[in-house]
Amino acid sequence: MSLYTSTRKKLENITATQAILQGISEEGGLFVPVSIPKIDFNLEEANSWDYKELAYRVIKLFFEDIEEKDLKYCIEHAYDEKFDNEEITPLVTTKTANFLELFHGPTIAFKDMALSILPYFMLTSKKYNKESKDIVILTATSGDTGKAALEGFANVEGTKIIVFFPEEGVSEVQKRQMVTQEGENTLVVGVKGNFDDCQTGVKEIFSDKAFEKEVADKEYKFSSANSINIGRLVPQVVYYFAAYTKLIREGKLKSGEPMNVVVPTGNFGNILAGYYAKNMGLPINKFICASNTNKVLFDFFEEGIYDRNRDFHLTISPSMDILISSNLERLLYHISGEDTKLVTDMMNNLKNEGKYAITESMKNELSDFYGGYADDETTKAYIKKVYEEDGYLMDTHTAVAYAVYDQYTKETEDTVPSVIISTASPYKFTNSVMTAIDSKHEKTDDFTLLEEMHKLIKGDMPQAMDQIAERPIKHQTVCEVSEMKDIVRGFLI
Ligand SMILES: *Cc1c(COP(=O)(O)O)cnc(C)c1O
Repeated sequence: MSLYTSTRKKLENITATQAILQGISEEGGLFVPVSIPKIDFNLEEANSWDYKELAYRVIKLFFEDIEEKDLKYCIEHAYDEKFDNEEITPLVTTKTANFLELFHGPTIAFKDMALSILPYFMLTSKKYNKESKDIVILTATSGDTGKAALEGFANVEGTKIIVFFPEEGVSEVQKRQMVTQEGENTLVVGVKGNFDDCQTGVKEIFSDKAFEKEVADKEYKFSSANSINIGRLVPQVVYYFAAYTKLIREGKLKSGEPMNVVVPTGNFGNILAGYYAKNMGLPINKFICASNTNKVLFDFFEEGIYDRNRDFHLTISPSMDILISSNLERLLYHISGEDTKLVTDMMNNLKNEGKYAITESMKNELSDFYGGYADDETTKAYIKKVYEEDGYLMDTHTAVAYAVYDQYTKETEDTVPSVIISTASPYKFTNSVMTAIDSKHEKTDDFTLLEEMHKLIKGDMPQAMDQIAERPIKHQTVCEVSEMKDIVRGFLI
């Protein structure tokens, strides 16, 4: 049976569904598998599977306590017509790169890969553990998680969802997508602060025992849709396998040969899922970790010191504007030889002093990772270049990855086939993308530019953008960080 423990304390007998339901461990650690499962299929055979079959074969190894028929039900309902591409994660090959497009879901960002299935896992977990309380999803978002979680949980019986976003830190389209959210069980709140403030506020509510009791008396239980929830991480492992099989089908790889992955990174969830895929047996050579100007991870890979004491930058890739990459804690756990004491100390240092250093032996375990970063100017230059030379329009996050990929191949001359993990549709960051191509668009708003952009891209405008400017605003609350708890109380009690 696949069981779970915490990054900060050895736990016994926590099942997958318990970990999903709980979100975060009591002492503040993150749930991790007691051992990362090995694949029980070979990669050749996986070539003939569609996304759902692949998802089933990968996820079942992590979530063994979910019965076959229930897991298949979750997968069937998650990866259905909500996605506008039959392959779910198509691989697009241009002259210079391979892009794994993870933005064909309902909110046109890669968060849909996990958040379209998490509500099903949550309800299944509730049933298995005879949890009668309503689940309240509390989420901090840098823009994309919020909408994807709202889309997943809206009107799901037995759940409520509250989303906090940085009032000034998301794109116009991202904000509009969230504040127009329908569904009686949803609440969307702008916070006067940045993403880290939102995330810290949510974590504080999670660890407030008195408040937990107060809401439990009203038959509510908190859980998380952030990537700290193992129910979000595991579905993300699947598409690394999908990328590999697609490269094989394209004739770019032979089975067993390695590939590199380039991941635009914020909270370290996406890239960590790739690390899990490798540990399961997928031949990944390098993890190229791409950051924007908030390059705390780049510095970490260079120096072995994680230091969040620095200025926070608002960039054109807002979903990566993060100084505390929560999922890195899971990597620390694995590379420290599962040393929960050491991880706890490091996380305490991060909390108290804003920094920690890893040991030499941990550093040696990071040789598969390459860190790089790109500022806004560089990012825009690559959007323009790749559009003009390859005819492919990248969103700002994907462009950060492309920039770092280019830097990596020039520096190392590595010829291993690489896949750029493409995390959002350019439609989601219309102004930044269009301005990158032609500065005349600078003063035009995101909504007007949707049509302009449509002229540059083949195919239909995604459903998510249809009439977005005309939809009625449903959520207008804005609060201080210190008021977040009261907002939650007000909505529930
Ligand atoms: C969330 C997000 C990222 C960062 O992913 P992490 O798992 O937080 O590292 C990158 N790009 C886009 C578009 C995102 O929404």
